[in-house]
Amino acid sequence: MEKIQRISTINLERNFQEVERALTSQEALEESNRCLYCFDAPCIKACPTGIDIPTFIKKIASGNLLGSAKTIMTSNPVGASCSRVCPTEELCEGACVLNHSTKPIMIGNLQRYATDWAIKNEQTLFEPGIPNGKAVAVVGGGPAGLSAARELARFGYKVTIFEAAEKAGGLNTYGIVSFRLPQSISYWEVEQVEKLNVTIQTNTRVGKDVPINDLLKDFDCIVLAVGMAHVPYLGIEGEDLEGVFDAIEFVKGTKSGKLTKDFVGKRVVVIGAGNTAIDGATCSVRLGAENVKILYRRTEEEMTAYDFEYEFAKQDVVEFRWLTAPKRIIGDESGKVTGIECIKMNLGEPDQDGRRRPNPVEGSEYVIPVDAVIKAIGQTRHLELIEALELLHDSGVVQVNKETYQTSNPKIYACGDVVFGKGNGDAMVVTAAQQGKLVAHSIYKQFKAAGVTQ
Ligand SMILES: Cc1cc2nc3c(=O)[nH]c(=O)nc-3n(C[C@H](O)[C@H](O)[C@H](O)COP(=O)(O)OP(=O)(O)OC[C@H]3O[C@@H](n4cnc5c(N)ncnc54)[C@H](O)[C@@H]3O)c2cc1C
Ligand code: SF4
Repeated sequence: MEKIQRISTINLERNFQEVERALTSQEALEESNRCLYCFDAPCIKACPTGIDIPTFIKKIASGNLLGSAKTIMTSNPVGASCSRVCPTEELCEGACVLNHSTKPIMIGNLQRYATDWAIKNEQTLFEPGIPNGKAVAVVGGGPAGLSAARELARFGYKVTIFEAAEKAGGLNTYGIVSFRLPQSISYWEVEQVEKLNVTIQTNTRVGKDVPINDLLKDFDCIVLAVGMAHVPYLGIEGEDLEGVFDAIEFVKGTKSGKLTKDFVGKRVVVIGAGNTAIDGATCSVRLGAENVKILYRRTEEEMTAYDFEYEFAKQDVVEFRWLTAPKRIIGDESGKVTGIECIKMNLGEPDQDGRRRPNPVEGSEYVIPVDAVIKAIGQTRHLELIEALELLHDSGVVQVNKETYQTSNPKIYACGDVVFGKGNGDAMVVTAAQQGKLVAHSIYKQFKAAGVTQ
């Protein structure tokens, strides 16, 4: 990876460009010819959306890039984004039989090669279905909502997506760092859905701009795909000081160009050690921060970030302070952050979730001088909306029937991050996309069985 320019010579445009290089045509051809086209291929089973991987790779090898992109996007409506953000070593590539002999096929990179071709050549991959007279409201235009909308439109439903943000795409548009997923890729996937006559009402928050009762009255059913919400409060002194950021809002700021030179030469502390914390730290480095530290109250062993994310942060010279928790954030008279008081921790017995509980070491407090603090300790839930809809939930994780994806109100289905957690699946783009698809198929099946549609 190219070294990042720092401070006085900071070049934001360059620093936020995709770090992973695209395959050349020759590399894609050679890589696709390495595939063994296994019968009963394990990679297909390991992909949550079940993409027919050997088929799309074979199409690349034979020069049929349109066919390849269609194979990918049929199974995964956000397949261009997934080619860049899936933890492939844990999914498709991790299951490749070539792991036992040489190295796995670069499935993600080949998927990117085919979908990049479709994007560059402005392809429209799908047609809307014959209208069946039924209308569905999709609340939230992230990967789960887009995926549900795409499939429903292909079945002939009239679909309206209500999206609170200025643009659709959810965390693909605003949450996943530009140097892994540029916004243009997410916009192309949104366009593919719009081309199926799906209406996308942006800047429209359900529960505020559109009353819930109107949706229940005006649509035959509702798909709830609102994801999760902001980073929770730490509950310590100084959280409202200038220079304290919510990691998701922070990444959003870098994606929409709102954070520019503010970080040049600054000292940043990130709290948490999941993938979002790594994103906050690596974005800070790219904004020109002089020193970036990640504080985590447990150890390297318990951190939840993927290995490749951890390696990436280390390459960016991010420092890790294990067994360290924030005690208070310190500011000056003008209300700006100047430091963070930390306390050392040690690990006790495992708690309910099986992870060893961190305990403070009395008298071990010390202060780190900082200019900015980024909080990355998970995400809260859209409790207000979920309760206004009167849905059964477990601390904000909406309960669904595992076969039909219906909530406690049979007219409302739910998918994506809004149902993940509490032992129900992993919050990933690819799993959200799959659930969106399954919700659409469930609606189709049930309406058909009830004789409502053909
Ligand atoms: C910083 C970060 C980095 C991540 N990196 C990765 C990664 O590298 N790989 C990976 O696979 N996953 C990653 N994830 C997880 C992944 O982004 C999510 O699992 C996925 O986006 C979930 O999709 P979703 O559609 O359920 O929710 P979201 O993407 O959150 O979309 C929900 C949408 O609903 C809208 N909405 C919310 N409330 C309302 C309302 N009341 N009315 C209308 N619209 C509303 C929101 O504006 C949003 O657009 C990351 C997550 C974060 C936070
Ligand atoms: S969608 Fe993700 S898991 Fe599935 S084949 Fe593509 S990169 Fe692999």
